[in-house]
Amino acid sequence: MAKILVFNNDTDRMETYYRGEAEPMPYNTNATLKVREFRGSSKSNILWTTKRCMQSWNSQRYIFGGPIPVGFAFKRPWEGGHGNQSQHYAGVAFDVGQTLTQTARTRLWNSANNSGVWSYVEPISLTPTWVHFDKRFRQASLCHRRIPYIKKRKFK
Ligand SMILES: [Zn+2]
Repeated sequence: MAKILVFNNDTDRMETYYRGEAEPMPYNTNATLKVREFRGSSKSNILWTTKRCMQSWNSQRYIFGGPIPVGFAFKRPWEGGHGNQSQHYAGVAFDVGQTLTQTARTRLWNSANNSGVWSYVEPISLTPTWVHFDKRFRQASLCHRRIPYIKKRKFK
């Protein structure tokens, strides 16, 4: 049983869930992302993510139109990773497609890159055997704060 903290971007509140490893993540639709898949090899008793990230997964899974094998998502800093491991520590990044053929993985990369649901998709040259995409929390919240300011300036 994992304790899962989910930042709800709509209410600005942290929510707490308790889920078994074979159960879907909170806000996941059609059980396409199990707790154990999100956890990967992390040994942490507590996992965390955001509602927006889970919704992005749902959209990406729908757009791709088939199962997306998840190698890693959540990681603590000392549990290893690559250049963008901080996003994994924030619980908003996925390393996926490790078990796909190269052709299928390229199709997945293109799907992620074109879907428009992710803040960042790591270039294919840096991730030859997996696909990294993430939903950067800071950028997203910055965007929301900047919109009214930009609108105001436009009509000056
Ligand atoms: Zn990654």
